[in-house]
Amino acid sequence: MAILPLIIAPDPRLKKKSLPVEQITDDIRELSRHLFDTMYYEKGIGLAAVQVGVHQRILVADVTWRDEDGTPGTQYVIINPEIVENSTELNAYKEGCLSLPEQYADVTRPSSVRVRYIDLNGAQQEETFEGLLATCIQHEIDHLNGIIFVDHASPVKRDMILRKLTKLKKQGYFDAHDHTNCGHDHSHDHHDHEHVHGENCNH
Ligand code: ZN
Repeated sequence: MAILPLIIAPDPRLKKKSLPVEQITDDIRELSRHLFDTMYYEKGIGLAAVQVGVHQRILVADVTWRDEDGTPGTQYVIINPEIVENSTELNAYKEGCLSLPEQYADVTRPSSVRVRYIDLNGAQQEETFEGLLATCIQHEIDHLNGIIFVDHASPVKRDMILRKLTKLKKQGYFDAHDHTNCGHDHSHDHHDHEHVHGENCNH
């Protein structure tokens, strides 16, 4: 189990566009496992590699894991995703992000998307995602393009959130989140908040 340190916004690394994965190597397989470890530990439902400083087009998602016992739900590893179709119907979710801890904003996106991607076996997949999973995957694909969810909010809300995070960073508020190579199993030992899927979900 490896918990990778998360990049907290504002940070120029989160604005950088990620590059396509050229080959599914052991490194990529290992990275996807670390992304899941980090995502579950931080109680998120999605995580893009860029959030741990790896600028490759890979994201993981699981919107159905169980908080009570940490049982994984349906896991997706999505590599080099491309949205090939958007629904005209829209959906608004109060989104959060592991790179913007404890910050939330309503974001409106297509309620379903058809995504072409490469899976961990190197096979091309095409799948339609709906509901929370559709929101989550669009949020993560944004990350691969250097976009964070507050970029979809009003400039006032966006600036307010980023200013707040800058201040908290200066105060060292997020320093405890760095668990690089400490080797300990931190599952469920420092989170006191209840996690409810679909409400204030972190990606
Ligand atoms: Zn995010």
